[in-house]
Amino acid sequence: MTAMSEIASSTPVAGETDDQAGVRPGALLRPGTLYVVATPIGNMGDLSPRAREVLSSVALVCAEDTRHTGQLLTHAGISARLMSMHEHNEAGRVDEVLRRLQGGDSVALVTDAGTPLISDPGYRLLAALRVAGLPASPVPGPCAAIAALSVAGLPTDRFFFEGFLPARAAARRARLQELAGRAETLVFYEAANRMADALADALAVFGPGRAAAVGRELTKRHETVYRGSLAEVRAAVLADPGGDRGECTWVLAGRGTEVARDDAELARVVGILAAELPASQAAGLAARITGASRKAAYRLASAQPAGQPGDE
Ligand code: SAM
Repeated sequence: MTAMSEIASSTPVAGETDDQAGVRPGALLRPGTLYVVATPIGNMGDLSPRAREVLSSVALVCAEDTRHTGQLLTHAGISARLMSMHEHNEAGRVDEVLRRLQGGDSVALVTDAGTPLISDPGYRLLAALRVAGLPASPVPGPCAAIAALSVAGLPTDRFFFEGFLPARAAARRARLQELAGRAETLVFYEAANRMADALADALAVFGPGRAAAVGRELTKRHETVYRGSLAEVRAAVLADPGGDRGECTWVLAGRGTEVARDDAELARVVGILAAELPASQAAGLAARITGASRKAAYRLASAQPAGQPGDE
């Protein structure tokens, strides 16, 4: 079957609404199709009805961790045949899955949480399907990156998904430096126990005023969303006794937005300090706190209304 004939296929998708009233959705699985199924990122209620239907109807479920997925399926009351497919054995399992699909079986691919292939295994399999001209069908659902973006309050018209930064500090900073010029909102994955370090590096590279958000344990009991400037968000994560626990997705405003934000942050800090201190001292401190230039801080400090203490 060619890619074009797949697109033109009129075989219905499981659960689709067109003219399918009264037809049991499981009966509508396309034979020989790989279903790429999103699963919850924490909240079991987010497993969609169609995901349940597909997982309980396919001949085989390829799972990143069969124990983890086994628990999800048990929780959902689904019994399915599981096969492990993860980063280290994916290459060796591809041929077997292709054979099953070519023989007419429908197969599902899931990972531990969220959407497969998004910082998760599955790419090799999907690339092989593409070469072989075999069909793949998405069962969309949870994705931590999209969940975090949806609540960050930052521009979403364009965004750049970076995923995990390097774990080592020097490499992480170098990568952040490469991203510093990007105008799109940036989206990162990180373990909560490394979040404060990652934010410290981002602060050094992007400046403390860049708008940011961290979504920790999204959809779970301890869900927390920290929003503010990079400096504020880092302070909030550090101040939270549970701030280093669980999983985080963090979002950073793109380059275009930080100028106004940095200016506003500098003006705010200068305003506070200049009310108490001579302009030069206020400017020096404000520059150290915000990362702005001393010259810009002094320009603002010396323009504070008369009556402020001033020495220059
Ligand atoms: N494929 C998954 C998806 O669609 O979201 C992501 C897999 S990646 C290996 C796991 C990372 O996603 C975690 O380290 C964390 O950065 C992020 N993540 C997963 N669940 C999360 C949650 N409940 N809250 C915040 N971030 C989460």
